Amino acid sequence: MEFDTILCHYAEVGLKLGNRRFFENWLRKNIKASLNRAIPDKIFTVRRLYGRIVIELDDDLTKNREEIIQALSSTFGLAYFAFARYVAQEIKSIREMALAALQDKEFETFKIKTRRPDQNFLFNAQQVNEDVGAFILSKMDKTVQLKDPDITCHIDIVQGVVYIYTEKIPGPGGLPTGANGKVVGLLSGGIDSPVASILAMKRGAAVTFVHFHSVPMTTEESIEKVKQITTVLSHYQSRIHLYLVALTPIQKEILVKTKEKYRIILYRRFMFRIAEMIANKEKARALVTGESLGQVASQTLENIAAIEAVSSMPILRPLIGLDKLEIINLAKEYGTYDISILPDQDCCSLFLPKSPATKAKTQFIEAEEENLAVDNLIQEAIDSIEIIKILA
Ligand code: ATP
Ligand code: MG
Repeated sequence: MEFDTILCHYAEVGLKLGNRRFFENWLRKNIKASLNRAIPDKIFTVRRLYGRIVIELDDDLTKNREEIIQALSSTFGLAYFAFARYVAQEIKSIREMALAALQDKEFETFKIKTRRPDQNFLFNAQQVNEDVGAFILSKMDKTVQLKDPDITCHIDIVQGVVYIYTEKIPGPGGLPTGANGKVVGLLSGGIDSPVASILAMKRGAAVTFVHFHSVPMTTEESIEKVKQITTVLSHYQSRIHLYLVALTPIQKEILVKTKEKYRIILYRRFMFRIAEMIANKEKARALVTGESLGQVASQTLENIAAIEAVSSMPILRPLIGLDKLEIINLAKEYGTYDISILPDQDCCSLFLPKSPATKAKTQFIEAEEENLAVDNLIQEAIDSIEIIKILA
């Protein structure tokens, strides 16, 4: 069977809390952007229809099936979707189309499952199930089985039309990216931070990225990696801005003027300060990091406190309770893993302290910063910023 429509369902539970229309519009916009990116030469119509979103294309959708599945699988807010055919609200047409939908499938047992949000249709859902079921039985040598059938033929009677489909494809869940406002994601090029940002996108936050590098003390590898990662991230959010900031002058000062064991914490405090300034400029309301509790020396509760003391914004840490292996599995699922494991020179792995402080006290860190021209260094870093725009 050829398909002319894709019926998209969103996760209802999340939408009941807020303004449903608002979330539906974000989802509709994001679906359209994903499809336009995946299949640029076709025009899709995407509209809202009674608790569903309907995608239409003049051409046969089956031809682009794989690209469409990929695009919708990275559109947050979708609970599931289905390639469908629509027919008029007329029992004869429904019977014929249900037969066509089942005829090219392999199965022994089946059931018909009708939903009828449009109460104007003559028959109720149970009557449609029985009528169409009997028709299929008269045409095919199959058995009706209501519990766990091999195949289910869905008939959705909605606003003047009827949609028929047999296969529900799971979506990625979550809420439409952008619908919950903006955040700034600190992106390192490692495994964790891209996953953290994708999880924030999954809960509806649009993420602007900032990466700190140490060029020319390091090569440009980390920048290249982060650019590649943001290309993958652009599958989940269509417009991405990446701020590249040189941490080099700050690091040089820290190296010569402060105690070795506090280096990493001091680097991080500068990163958070600068990220917060970028967030204010972007009208973002929180920072997102890939920190997880106790994973490395800088991620003890004491050090987390000493680092975030410089920020007045909420800091979201979506990975805080995950094991490394769980994070790695998510990175593989989201497609960032292979890039993250490429070798690079991370800004923070330069001149690593031999024994970094694991229980830093904020007042000691502040005392170290007395030796630094904090404001000047921040200004210099801000002046170095390069913004890269990735439009997918
Ligand atoms: P990742 O795998 O994301 O690099 P990590 O396990 O190496 O994380 P840390 O080195 O402690 O952990 O970094 C913690 C977080 O700080 C990162 O997840 C990231 O959000 C942020 N961060 C670290 N380095 C940078 C950087 N160079 N640029 C931007 N953010 C960074
Ligand atoms: Mg790292």
